[in-house]
Amino acid sequence: MKLGIVGAGVFGIAAAIELAERGHEVTVFERGSVPSAQASSTDVSKVIRRWAYADNETYVELVERAAINWARWQQEFESPVYHKVGQVRALPDWGPESPMRRSVEYLQGRGASIEILTTAQARKRFPRLVVLDSDTHVYDRWAGYVESALAVEYMARMARDRGVRILANTGVRSVDESPESSQMMLDDGTEHTFDRIVVAAGAWVGRLVPELIQGLTITRQQMLIIAPDRPEFFAPGAMGVWSIEVASGQWYGFPLLRSGYVKVADDATGEQIDPDVDRGGTPEFARRAMGFLRKRVPELGAGRLVAGRTCLYTNTPDDHFVIDWAPGSSRVLVAGCGTSHGFKFGSSIGPVIADAIEDRDNPLGRLFRLGDRFAGGAAARDPRDKGFLHSAG
Ligand SMILES: Cc1cc2nc3c(=O)[nH]c(=O)nc-3n(C[C@H](O)[C@H](O)[C@H](O)COP(=O)(O)OP(=O)(O)OC[C@H]3O[C@@H](n4cnc5c(N)ncnc54)[C@H](O)[C@@H]3O)c2cc1C
Repeated sequence: MKLGIVGAGVFGIAAAIELAERGHEVTVFERGSVPSAQASSTDVSKVIRRWAYADNETYVELVERAAINWARWQQEFESPVYHKVGQVRALPDWGPESPMRRSVEYLQGRGASIEILTTAQARKRFPRLVVLDSDTHVYDRWAGYVESALAVEYMARMARDRGVRILANTGVRSVDESPESSQMMLDDGTEHTFDRIVVAAGAWVGRLVPELIQGLTITRQQMLIIAPDRPEFFAPGAMGVWSIEVASGQWYGFPLLRSGYVKVADDATGEQIDPDVDRGGTPEFARRAMGFLRKRVPELGAGRLVAGRTCLYTNTPDDHFVIDWAPGSSRVLVAGCGTSHGFKFGSSIGPVIADAIEDRDNPLGRLFRLGDRFAGGAAARDPRDKGFLHSAG
């Protein structure tokens, strides 16, 4: 088939790689550069973790495949982007019914070696964190992070090597279809015809598929980039990924990145905004974040604030992604709405999107079909939702 893909974020490029491998003629249209500074995928690093998916076999299966594929793919990459550095999570609630406990017990039942640390163990292993007696600390050495901007850049190279045409600085104004074909109108006014189109436009999906707007909320999520005084304290090996749940949500951070800086973010749902919002950070967030760090990760709290940044969550009512035909369509497929947790699947989601485009039933894709998921409109969000799915770190 002749296929057009809108968007060169992780969903669009993952689809392109798989579809080209299956022999389709694929062109990707990206309105920015590749990777684009505006894409949620481009933010510098993303956690890959398997907990917080509870007993949801779809995600657990997909994340396990993703880890294997990132490790395999990066043998083709110029430098490694997937770092299995482990993750510790501090939890005020470890009651038998708490979501994280159920999730950890489920994974342990499947053979995962997730550790529940004593307070003394947590203090010894993570001396940079202020470990509260009242928290429970769980540790998964399987977890880690992917350097997301670099991963997208290398994936785009993989796609080109497989024959995909990627057109940067080429915005798509609208998509349409007739019984015989689907059409794309570009910002420059030219029209292009395809057998089928994938809309992987991230937070802008509603501009091309307005029927989805009623179920989506686009939220502003902020992060800080910090230069610690003692970088060696946060070097991979000395520090993995960490997350700390607090009453207001969940903070999480990464080890020292290749830039020499540390990224720290807040998972609490941010304000609802327009996707074209300025991507800088706000002084209010910086104050709040540094205040948290001074209390719980003091050597970061004493570090130099390099920058604040904004990234966007594209939230669905149930936090599951969307991989399905646009309402009423049989030639325009939506792939994305990755909310807070979609990046890690970049190396395993391609076949799910490709099966949808080829009208093949894939059990791993059923969760992402639209059905009536959007019928009730967008979910009202509690910013403190430490939720299960709704969690980056
Ligand atoms: C702060 C933050 C932290 C996160 N942390 C994690 C994490 O730790 N782990 C994890 O797994 N996930 C995480 N995520 C989620 C993850 O980043 C997203 O789910 C994922 O990157 C979404 O990818 P996408 O391809 O759908 O969208 P994007 O990456 O936004 O890509 C969409 C692309 O489409 C292009 N586009 C849009 N409209 C048009 C048009 N009309 N014409 C042409 N091109 C167009 C855009 O320019 C953009 O490049 C996080 C997200 C944020 C915001």
